[in-house]
Amino acid sequence: MGRLLLGCIADDFTGATDLANNLVRHGMRVVQANGVPEGPLDAEADAVVVALKSRTIAPAEAVAQSLAALRWLQAAGAQQIYFKYCSTFDSTPQGNIGPVAEALMDALGTDFTIATPAFPDNGRTVFKGHLFVGDVLLSDSGMKNHPLTPMTDANLVRVLQAQCRRKVGLIDHRVVAAGADAVRARIAALRAEGVGLAIVDAVSNDDLLRLGPALADLPLLTAGSGVAIGLPGNFGLAASSTASALPPARGLRAVVSGSCSQATLRQVQAFQASGRPAFAVDPLRLAQGHDVAGEALAWAGDRLAAGPVLIYSSADPAAVQAVQGQLGVAAAGERVEQALATVARGLVALGVRQLVVAGGETSGACAQALGVQQMRIGPQIDPGVPWCHAQAPGTGAEGLHLALKSGNFGGDDFFTRAFSVLA
Ligand code: ADP
Repeated sequence: MGRLLLGCIADDFTGATDLANNLVRHGMRVVQANGVPEGPLDAEADAVVVALKSRTIAPAEAVAQSLAALRWLQAAGAQQIYFKYCSTFDSTPQGNIGPVAEALMDALGTDFTIATPAFPDNGRTVFKGHLFVGDVLLSDSGMKNHPLTPMTDANLVRVLQAQCRRKVGLIDHRVVAAGADAVRARIAALRAEGVGLAIVDAVSNDDLLRLGPALADLPLLTAGSGVAIGLPGNFGLAASSTASALPPARGLRAVVSGSCSQATLRQVQAFQASGRPAFAVDPLRLAQGHDVAGEALAWAGDRLAAGPVLIYSSADPAAVQAVQGQLGVAAAGERVEQALATVARGLVALGVRQLVVAGGETSGACAQALGVQQMRIGPQIDPGVPWCHAQAPGTGAEGLHLALKSGNFGGDDFFTRAFSVLA
């Protein structure tokens, strides 16, 4: 393997893909590893994104997993480390953004890093240290009601300070607008004041591209996926189609959807409206012990040859609530995820080699069931969602093309257009 340029640690699965996608679009060849790899990489890469599931686990466990990822990336020769978290700065009052960032600083022996979830392409902007989601402050957005990480303060300097031992400061928009030299000077001044981490303002991609060169010498960066667009240039790389090239796609096509997000519900509807075949997985039949996965696979059997099929549990909020009321929230989710993972494995056994999965948790369950440990990141279908290619067990030399879509991503025609991007 050539020397790794950028080593990334992501605190969740689809967030890792989102970061990888931004790096590929700006010229890096990227492999996403699901968990810390046990051996070397399957393919050459300029950057590796290690996907953890550490966003809401206990801080000490998140630190331990992140340090294990760091050790693997260092052994692979990574020249710079990037800790990636959510663009809404999802964290509990204890972390895990602060504790993981400081543990990585200690391990790397560095006294300074930045922190910014800014991702203007997805409506996440930071101004005077305050995070906006679309047109509203983070604390006025839907994130204030998140079940696991409610975000009730938009002042990120204050939020991060509450999670950190080191002093937290700010690099504001006027500095960023003045360019890389001004940012470097501001970093030097903050360091002299004893500031260890600085929130960075960014309201546009231009801000992120101006910021990039100023970050070249920092051993550690912590950010959402936005900062990634300004980094490949530091390594002499520019956008190119070779960065996203995947092996040719052959074999049957299918979509598995366990996401109940608004965007996904529209995608399910659009797929059906186009006259294509779709099979609904009923969680209550599952709970009664019926082999719903087996029924879905038998249904798919002779339909697959004619074009993509959809197997979905996606349902509107009222239906989901009714199911959750009967089965419990966690039990319903787990049961449906396991059934859809069995479906994904069965589809691959039937010859599917181009598979779209909708839903963050659903994607994690399916990737695990398919034995996908590493994925080469390919061309973008919609913002944040690329095609990937994996050497999955049972898929032979051709491997498996996978698109893993987190709930609210993608246009209405995603389930059909995805396949035309590969063709
Ligand atoms: P998203 O990315 O849209 O949040 P996820 O896959 O992460 O999608 O989460 C959706 C959750 O809802 C999963 O745990 C899934 O198993 C569960 N689920 C899917 N369909 C249903 C349903 N009809 N009733 C109840 N829960 C469901």
